[in-house]
Amino acid sequence: MRKDDCIFCKIANGEIPSRTVYEDDKFRAVLDLGPATDGHTLILPKDHADNLFDLPEDYAKALIPTAQKIASKMKDNLKCDGLNLVQNNGEVAGQTVMHFHLHLIPRYENDGQRIGWKPGSRSDEEFEAIRKNIVG
Ligand code: 5GP
Ligand code: ZN
Repeated sequence: MRKDDCIFCKIANGEIPSRTVYEDDKFRAVLDLGPATDGHTLILPKDHADNLFDLPEDYAKALIPTAQKIASKMKDNLKCDGLNLVQNNGEVAGQTVMHFHLHLIPRYENDGQRIGWKPGSRSDEEFEAIRKNIVG
């Protein structure tokens, strides 16, 4: 379902112009307006979902094959040396547009970008408590 006040719904459904690199019945993939590198692309579902937690299963199932198609094109045509998939859920995780999107960020030798986190450490007991907590 499309959400009236959502800019990515409008982009995904072609209501406002975008630099589209791929489209099918479920997704539109567009160049990111503030690219990390050349070719930085966002895959947008045409139906609104805020984030991964409410992405319908049929979209979730189709997402990685779609990402793979676009990533292959990037490898062949942009000659990227690598690629990051990034997907933020919730403000605390860095999500700024509340319509699900998967970033495809082609990487090039010496592109000067840094995508990552500060590695931490945990004791065996802490790991085990966390593992149990996730399993539920
Ligand atoms: P997030 O931080 O939510 O994972 O990523 C949002 C991304 O959307 C950012 O990389 C930002 O540059 C991009 N963005 C924000 N508004 C627009 C827009 O109107 N069009 C396009 N193509 N990208 C946008
Ligand atoms: Zn939306």
